[in-house]
Amino acid sequence: SIPLGFFAGIGRASKEGILVKGGNYLEALNRIDTVFLDKTGTLTKGVFSLTSILPAPGIKEAELFRLASLAESASHHPIAISIQNAWTEQGGANLAPDSVEEIAGHGLKARYQGQTILVGKRDWLLSQGIEVEGLSSSEGTTVYVAMNGVYQGALNLSDSIRPDAEKMVKELRKIGIKSIIMLTGDANPTAEFVSNTLGLDGYESGLLPHQKVEAVERAIAAGQQTAFLGDGINDAPVLARAGVGIAMGALGSDAAIEAADVVLMADEPFRLVNALRIARKTRQIVL
Ligand code: ADP
Ligand code: MG
Repeated sequence: SIPLGFFAGIGRASKEGILVKGGNYLEALNRIDTVFLDKTGTLTKGVFSLTSILPAPGIKEAELFRLASLAESASHHPIAISIQNAWTEQGGANLAPDSVEEIAGHGLKARYQGQTILVGKRDWLLSQGIEVEGLSSSEGTTVYVAMNGVYQGALNLSDSIRPDAEKMVKELRKIGIKSIIMLTGDANPTAEFVSNTLGLDGYESGLLPHQKVEAVERAIAAGQQTAFLGDGINDAPVLARAGVGIAMGALGSDAAIEAADVVLMADEPFRLVNALRIARKTRQIVL
């Protein structure tokens, strides 16, 4: 039977905008010693501004921007939404590709009037046989574009850290969390910057969704009690695997909310601290 105190704990959590899917998760939250965090959309706002457009030689800036917006128009990834918004704001027309394939953690493949457009990570374009040229910027997130196998250029985007992320990290330590690690699909200069700014214990960058799962599995195999907090884009597998999977609601995908054990009903990572506090109070009542 479930101790009555757990019902009170779940009710209390729901009043604070935290959905706990069962009393056992309140108990599990008390044992957590390792917190894994997603970056884009979780520690950062996931709202990017377009900082520069870098066309390949012979390509017009407007054409590169149009290709990127076209391919991104069907995606709900924070990068995609940001590019679409920037395109619309500068008066760009609505675009609709004939078909789009989204490759989690890599990018997108779109078809439009017989053309194939790839938009995504540098390494992924290289793996598709595209000769990506030029330097990426040392700051922010760079998105690379190719059409019909030929490199067209890159877009630089910059995100910002959520205002409550630093406070969350400090409180997690006070509560006694031993290890706070970021797992991100994004590349290194940006990952390192976010980790250093927030004073995390470590980070792994350039991860595909299954590599986030493997990172959590290594911690579990080492005897650590894990939680993963993510906004949910591409993160359903790791949310399901972590000791306690915690999704942030507002941006979160349906698959993530389904896979998670706990859902924070607003894009405020600090609510994780509230969830841990409620779990601790509930234990005192139950005992
Ligand atoms: P994170 O783990 O930080 O939340 P994701 O796994 O969602 O990041 O994405 C990792 C990387 O893959 C991004 O930084 C970007 O380079 C690339 N990527 C993913 N989806 C897209 C997209 N829709 N358009 C362009 N690039 C993308
Ligand atoms: Mg994310």
